[in-house]
Amino acid sequence: MNCRWLVLILCLLTQLIWADPTPEDPVTSRQVNTPDGVAIYCSNRLGNDMTVTLEFTRSDNVVASPHFPCTTTIPGHSEVKMATLRKADPDTNWTYYYMYFWNFGSVHARHDDSVVYSLPYASGQTLKVIQGFHGKFSHRGDDEYAIDFSHPEGTPVLAAREGTVVHIEERYSVGAAEEYYRSRVNVLRVLHSDGTIGEYDHFRSDGIVVEPGQWVKRGQLIGYSGHTGFATGPHLHFVVYGAKDGHSRKSYPIRFWVEGSSEPVELIQAQIYTAPRTE
Ligand SMILES: [Zn+2]
Repeated sequence: MNCRWLVLILCLLTQLIWADPTPEDPVTSRQVNTPDGVAIYCSNRLGNDMTVTLEFTRSDNVVASPHFPCTTTIPGHSEVKMATLRKADPDTNWTYYYMYFWNFGSVHARHDDSVVYSLPYASGQTLKVIQGFHGKFSHRGDDEYAIDFSHPEGTPVLAAREGTVVHIEERYSVGAAEEYYRSRVNVLRVLHSDGTIGEYDHFRSDGIVVEPGQWVKRGQLIGYSGHTGFATGPHLHFVVYGAKDGHSRKSYPIRFWVEGSSEPVELIQAQIYTAPRTE
């Protein structure tokens, strides 16, 4: 989960206690004093939409507008005023603690179901779907429509759909099926024309060959698979989603072109599929 604490305590003497955001956080928040309270601004340092949710963990004598929790999608490289806070009773002290959570993508994304995806590996190559939609190991909730392909370590990963690279992480070198590794994954996110994001996970260390801001074509080499993050072994996890709020996302069922079928297919767990040779 992506979040930061911001703590503000106002007593008779004003005291500010902040948890410093790290420079790498895609979203940061700041407060500006107003004549009757404070305004909370959130800024997005990345080039793509980020969806942010503000929540109180404690609020005494506070009126928030809009009511918390509140969610906004912030366009790339911009800052928005997300909320204003004021005292309910101006003559009494107030105390509040809030957190903000962020997610990649927009709440306005809607998947174009006419799009058929390409298998994310080389033409003519055959790999297995080791976990499909609603897979029992980890494809639940936000990731209910994710697919795991059996890419061995170092297998070329190809873009399943064209779009703009909006985020990469490739610093990690190890993985395991332990909670500690869930956020320590090498990942590539591509923004599609319908506002959804295609996420490719578990690349090997320094295993991504494209850069943020770069347009990638369907079938283009984007990196090499590996075993980083929450995973029992090397594979490629692929999921297409839009944001629901700062906590969660909505993934979409997708279909693929596969060798031997003239119709798009929904991939089935434990089946093998060959990438079409004619593409
Ligand atoms: Zn997976």
